[in-house]
Formats: sequence, C-alpha cells, structure tokens
Amino acid sequence: MKLLKVLTVIVLVSAVAIAAAGYWLFTNQPSLARFEARGLGTTTDGTSSRVRVSWLGNTNVLVTDGETAILTDGWFTRPSDLEILFGHIGPDLGAIDRALERADIEQLAAVIPVHSHFDHAMDAPEVAERTGAMLVGSESTANIGRGWGLADESIRVATPGQAMSFGDFQVTLFESRHFEFPNPLLRRGVSSRTEITEPLQPPVRMTEYAEGGSYSVLITHPDASVLIQGSAGYLPGALEGIDVDAVFLSVGGIGGQTERYQSNYWAYIVNATTPEKLFPVHWDSFTHPLGERPQAPNLFWDQVFGLQADASIQWAFDRAAEDPLLQAGLLPLWQPVSIP
Ligand SMILES: [Zn+2]
Repeated sequence: MKLLKVLTVIVLVSAVAIAAAGYWLFTNQPSLARFEARGLGTTTDGTSSRVRVSWLGNTNVLVTDGETAILTDGWFTRPSDLEILFGHIGPDLGAIDRALERADIEQLAAVIPVHSHFDHAMDAPEVAERTGAMLVGSESTANIGRGWGLADESIRVATPGQAMSFGDFQVTLFESRHFEFPNPLLRRGVSSRTEITEPLQPPVRMTEYAEGGSYSVLITHPDASVLIQGSAGYLPGALEGIDVDAVFLSVGGIGGQTERYQSNYWAYIVNATTPEKLFPVHWDSFTHPLGERPQAPNLFWDQVFGLQADASIQWAFDRAAEDPLLQAGLLPLWQPVSIP
C-alpha cells in the first residue's frame, strides 16, 4: 500500500515536470538581438540596377525588376506547434492575404517552391492562383498544385539545369540536397516519404508534404543574379562555374552539423558561386505568425528539433568574415533591397 502511494507520487511529480518543461520549451525563444545590428543593404538608393529583392520570411524571396516578379515558396501560413506535431495542416487564407498585401504583391510570373515540405510549398498554389503565376517545381510540387485545384496550364514541372524565361529573368532549378539532420531519428522521419505521387488535398498530416527533391534556384537578369539555396544541403559540383551577385543561404540546422559538413556546404554553395553579398535565411520561426520583424523559433524547434538559429547565423557570419570581398547581413522583413 505504501509502495503504491510512493509510485503514485513519483508518476504525478514526473507528469507535472514534463508538462512544465514542455510549456517552457514552447513558450521561450533564444534571443537573436545581437544580430540586429548586422542588417545589410537596406537601401535602394544610388544604384542603376532595376532588380529589387525582398525577404518575406523563411525562404520566401521576392525578386522583381519592376516589370516581372518572381517569388520562391510563397509560404505565409504559420501553423501552431500542436497542429504541426499532432494535427492536420493546410493553407491559412487570411495569412496569405495579409502577406501579399504587406509585400505589395499583385502579379507574379512564377511561384517556385525550393522543395515540397509544408514550410515551403504548402501555400504556393493559392499564391499562384491569386497572382496569375505559374507554379514551378518538382512533380511533388505539381501534385500539391493539382490537389488544390490549380489548372494544369498554371503548373510547370521544371527540368533541373534547364533555364526558363519570365520577362527579362531566366530561372534555373539545380538539383541539390535537403539538410541532413544530425539526429538519426529526425533524419529518418523527414526522409521517410520522398515523393508526393497523388494530388494532395489539405488539411493533411505534416508528413504528407514529402520533400520531392530539393533545389538551388538561380535567378539571372541583365542587371543582377541571385541564388536561393532552399535547404542547408549540397550536391558536390552542382553549381560549379555559376557566378552570382548575392546568395540567400538557408542556415536552419547548420550550426548543429559537423565541421566537415559545414565546410562542404560553404564550399559547394558559397565558394562555388562567388557572391559579393550573403543573406542567411530559413532561420526564423515557422510557428509564430509573420509580423513586423522576424521571430526566432521557440526552444522546442530550436534546440530539440535542432534549428539552432543562434549558432547557425553565427556560423554564416564567421565564415563570411574570412572573405574580405564578401558582405553578410540579415535582411529586414518585407523591405526591398537592390542587387547588386
Ligand atoms: Zn525541408
């Protein structure tokens, strides 16, 4: 009888401790305040380039020359922690409205998910529909479009390495690799399903948004060229001989990888493309609504899941500091900057 009482107390105390730890993880974020002074290129004055680029959170990058506009991902929904982990997720039409208005987007030529995970491709068909854009990406991305009811003529499955023209822009998707989570359980979870083979109709479990191939997106224009690296993975040699003005480099998770992986990532993406400017992206929260300023992920995603925003951003700045010709900085949300 006494033993039963002791056991009951132990179980209750453990349950309370686990609940308290969980609450703490989900309601606290690391402070990234020390990076705030590292803004870069927030001016559009004094340049003859027509190309303007705005960062809209995660790996949403809007590139425009005033005539033609192209957007990677177009992911503006921010599901809750519980929805992502245990529920079903789908596009938040209100969040998409607000973001398009905030970014002053009316017409787009193309919406290009960097891969088909939910935090990249989930909203893309709706954004394409509202802006008259072509949805461009993998067969898996095409199936997200079909499931949403997007017309076939608005969907284009890209051939890696083959340039597509949109106004004065040329867009090429190069095959790349997704970030490799150091934790084997997570790695298996993320890559358990690789393709979306049927039209996908949300709301669905997060895992239904299979990767479908990861890309480096090269956008060139007579005035400027940019590379958007959608995930912190690399394919050796894939970008050899490509020279760009700016790289938008996904850093989420890179701070927790081995030195060898980090060096390869830098060599095969940044050294290979010799940019003058580097903007770390994909380090911000995917559960906090998109607001005025970017938010750090909460401690669950940052430490348990392993995004490690602080270490990852610091890594990019440290590597960039070794190259005197390379400027690195965080972009403000929503504000256009000139490239080059
Ligand atoms: Zn992903």
